Amino acid sequence: MAGSENEISKGAPPGLAKAEPKRELALASRSIHADDNVSAHRAVAPAMHVSTTFRYSDNPDDLGYMNNQDPSAPKDSHIYSRISSPNLTRLEILLSSLLNGPSVTYSSGLSAFHALLVRLNPRRIAISAGYHGCHGVIDLVSRLSGLEVVPLDCPASDLGPGDVIHVETPLNPTGEAADLEHYAKKARESGAYLTVDATFAPPPLQDPLVQGADIVMHSGTKYIGGHSDLLCGVLTVNPRLAGPDAAGGVDLHAGLLQDRIFLGSVMGNLEGWLGLRSLRTLELRVTRQSSSATSLVRWLAAEAADSSSLVSRAVDSVQHASLQPGAEAEGSWLRRQMPGGFGPVFAIRMKEEALARALPSKLELFHHATSLGGVESLIEWRAMTDKSVDKRLLRVSIGLEAWEDLRDDLIAGFRALLDA
Ligand SMILES: *Cc1c(COP(=O)(O)O)cnc(C)c1O
Repeated sequence: MAGSENEISKGAPPGLAKAEPKRELALASRSIHADDNVSAHRAVAPAMHVSTTFRYSDNPDDLGYMNNQDPSAPKDSHIYSRISSPNLTRLEILLSSLLNGPSVTYSSGLSAFHALLVRLNPRRIAISAGYHGCHGVIDLVSRLSGLEVVPLDCPASDLGPGDVIHVETPLNPTGEAADLEHYAKKARESGAYLTVDATFAPPPLQDPLVQGADIVMHSGTKYIGGHSDLLCGVLTVNPRLAGPDAAGGVDLHAGLLQDRIFLGSVMGNLEGWLGLRSLRTLELRVTRQSSSATSLVRWLAAEAADSSSLVSRAVDSVQHASLQPGAEAEGSWLRRQMPGGFGPVFAIRMKEEALARALPSKLELFHHATSLGGVESLIEWRAMTDKSVDKRLLRVSIGLEAWEDLRDDLIAGFRALLDA
């Protein structure tokens, strides 16, 4: 067996791996081609490799500590799949292109956030309310390291070098954005790192590295996966802090890769393969989800403000970045930060808890379920999974159905809710 496969690899023409594209490609093109050069195989679609372990060279002269280089697959040589594996390397090369910085994947968004805290090991973290799971990770790390939580808007003088300012934008569950330039300035003043949870607005909607984020985190379970069928977390390091010439002499990307070997929170092979498949359509999906959500929000907010409408009898208010000050103003911080459009998640605050509990049961197209980012639209009475939230709140994640059908579903739902 070993012999026959070796013959095949010896017979492979040199330089089979395709050259890196020379031109600067748009996001949509990179999502199809940025990993073309990774596989030594001629297959157009990525293979699904499930192996946990990889054969060493037959040549004793090639053997060395942690060295299993296959010259016909320079970017695809592996030892053990907790360290690296073909599906994940390919996914990380693709993500590094789409997210504009070296990117490391994890078994979930929360394991990515855990890895971030383990690597930076701050004494303090400045953070607001937001995705509750991240606060659970902070509690766990606090138990081990004494990590202290301070308010996101604390004075810069309360933070010191090595501390972390962690901004989630757009923010769960409302989809409203926070001004990253403001927090980047505060991070520079105090010597703290700026880390950004950008899950709610993946490319092409925003790139927090532009505003100065040091690490950008995504729960890849959401838009990167996009089909509600895989768990994934991603950390992207600002290129300024990666590689042998990293500012401050510490290569954060190498540090994260090294830590992950021992945290063991690596993605599964199958999930890595699914992630590649999903990313091919990232721009199409996210652009449509964003524009559909913004159309629905515009309609809902107008209905809620019109006292003669059915919607206004049930809805107190709608929250979304498109309704924030500056959303319409060319050149505002909000438009500069989100040049590709607003996120596909928004919140509806109902007039009473009972209305929020009942609306999902009246809808046909929206599934009543947690999570977001998939092709199917979801609505969640948020009190189902978040203890701290207003019980009148519904969180809505817009998928890829026609927005007019979603609007009609909501109209029928409000009608059933109020006639009942
Ligand atoms: C879902 C989510 C997470 C956690 O990600 P998992 O993949 O579920 O671990 C973190 N932050 C935000 C904003 C999220 O929506």
